Amino acid sequence: MSTAVKENQEVQHYVNGVYEQVKKSNAHETEFLQAVKEVLDSLVPVLAKNPQYIKHAILERMVEPERTISFRVPWVDDQGNVKVNRGYRVQFNSAIGPYKGGLRFHPSVNQSIIKFLGFEQIFKNSLTGQPIGGGKGGSDFDPKGKSDFEIMRFTQSFMSELSKYIGPDTDVPAGDIGVGAREIGYMFGQYKKMRGAYEAGVLTGKGVGYGGSLARKEATGYGTVYFVNEMLKSKGLSFKDSTVVVSGSGNVSIYAMEKAMELGAKILACSDSSGYVYDRNGIDLNTVKRLKEVEGKRISEYVKEHPGSVFYEGFGGIWKIPCDIALPCATQNEIDEEAAKLLVANGVKAIGEGANMPSTLEAVDVFLENNVLFGPAKAANAGGVAVSALEMAQNSARLSWTFDEVDGKLKEIMTNIYNDSLKAAEEYGVPGNLVVGANIAGFVKVADAMITQGVI
Ligand code: NAP
Repeated sequence: MSTAVKENQEVQHYVNGVYEQVKKSNAHETEFLQAVKEVLDSLVPVLAKNPQYIKHAILERMVEPERTISFRVPWVDDQGNVKVNRGYRVQFNSAIGPYKGGLRFHPSVNQSIIKFLGFEQIFKNSLTGQPIGGGKGGSDFDPKGKSDFEIMRFTQSFMSELSKYIGPDTDVPAGDIGVGAREIGYMFGQYKKMRGAYEAGVLTGKGVGYGGSLARKEATGYGTVYFVNEMLKSKGLSFKDSTVVVSGSGNVSIYAMEKAMELGAKILACSDSSGYVYDRNGIDLNTVKRLKEVEGKRISEYVKEHPGSVFYEGFGGIWKIPCDIALPCATQNEIDEEAAKLLVANGVKAIGEGANMPSTLEAVDVFLENNVLFGPAKAANAGGVAVSALEMAQNSARLSWTFDEVDGKLKEIMTNIYNDSLKAAEEYGVPGNLVVGANIAGFVKVADAMITQGVI
C-alpha cells in the first residue's frame, strides 16, 4: 500500500469519527447531517495534504455554529386571534466576514433545515471571493393565504427580536423561500424604527428605491445559468436549442428561466408545491411572472391561458420529462435516486442546482457516476449572495451601480467560482468533480482564516 493511500485511509477514519460525533450531538437533524456528510467526505484529500487543519480541529469547530438563536414570534391575525411562531437565526461562522445568509418563512422550517442552510452558506460565501461569513434564519410561519397586514405584523414581530442580533458589521440577512421584497421592506422599516438609525447595510434584497441593488432579484437564477453555461462550454455544448426543465416558479426559477431563454433554450416545464405544468411549445414566462409575482396564484392557472399545456398534480413528477438540462430551483431533496436515474435514462446532459441541496446524496452519486455535468448548489446558486455582497458594498460607498455593471460582476464571479472549483478538483485528484472542488475551494479560505485568528 502506498504512503498516500495509507494517509488517505487514516484521514478518512478521522473524518468518520468527526461525523459520528456530529451525529451523536445532532441526532434528529437529518438535513443538517446530510449537508455535513457531503462536505466532510469531500475534504479527505485536503486534510491528508494539510495536517494543520486536523491539528487545529478545524472540522470539529466548523460543524458547531458560533451561535444558535431561537425565539418566540407572537402576532395577531386579521380576526384578532393571537398566534405564535418560532423564529431562528444560526450564526455559523464569521472567520472571513459578518454572518450572511437568507431568512426562510415556510411551515417546514425547523432547526435542522436552518442549520443545513447555514452550514452550506459558509462554503458558498467563501467561494464568491467576498468577505462574508455564513448564517441563516427563518420561521415556521406560513405566508400562504395571509393578508398584507398579517405579513406586516408577523415580520415586525420577527424583526423586533432579530434586531438584537444583527447589524451591517455583525450579521446581514436577506430573503429565501417565502421572503421577498415585500417582507424585506417591512423588516427594514421595523429595524430602522428600533435602532433609530438608517443602517442600509443591515439587510440585502431591499427595494432599489431605498438601498437595494439592481440585478439582485435576478442574481441567483441568472448566476445558476451562467454557471451551467460554463460547464456546457467545457464540453462544446450550450443552452442554444436545448430543452430545459425547471422546478419551482419562485424567485430563483423565474430568473433561471429568463436567462436560459435569452441564451436560446426552450423551457418545457416548471412547477410549484401543488404540481407542474408541461408546455411543449415552451413555457410562456410572462404568464408565469404575472401569476406568481403579481397575482400570487397557483401554477395550475397557467393551463387556462395556454390550451396546449397540461397540469399534473404532484411535485416530483416533473423529472420524468426528458430534457437536456435540469435546473432544480425549488427546495431541498427534490431529486432522489429514482428521479436522478430517470433523468439520466432520458439523456440529461447537465444539472444546475438553483435551490439549496435539491439532490439527495444518492442522486448526486447517480449523476457523477454517469458523467452528467453537475453544478452543486454551493457553487451554482452563489450568485444571489454574491450580489447581496455587492449590495452591501454599494450601501457602504453610498452609491448605486447600473444593472449592466452588477450583471457583469455577477458573470465574472460565477466564472471564477467555476474555475476555482475545477482547479481544486484537479489539484486534489478528482478532475471534473465540482462537488468536491467547490467544497475544497470554499473550505481552504475559511480554515486558513480560522487558524490565523486562534482558538476562539
Ligand atoms: P420562493 O421565491 O419562495 O420560491 C420557491 C418555489 O419553490 C415556489 O415555486 C414554491 O412553491 C416551491 N417550493 C418551496 N418549498 C417547496 C416544498 N417544500 N415542496 C415543493 N415546492 C416547494 O423561493 P426562492 O427564493 O426562489 O428559493 C428557492 C430555492 O433557492 C431554495 O432552496 C432557496 O434556499 C434557494 N436559494 C435562493 C436564493 C435567493 O436569492 N432567493 C439564493 C440561493 C439559494 P409554492 O409557491 O407552492 O410554495
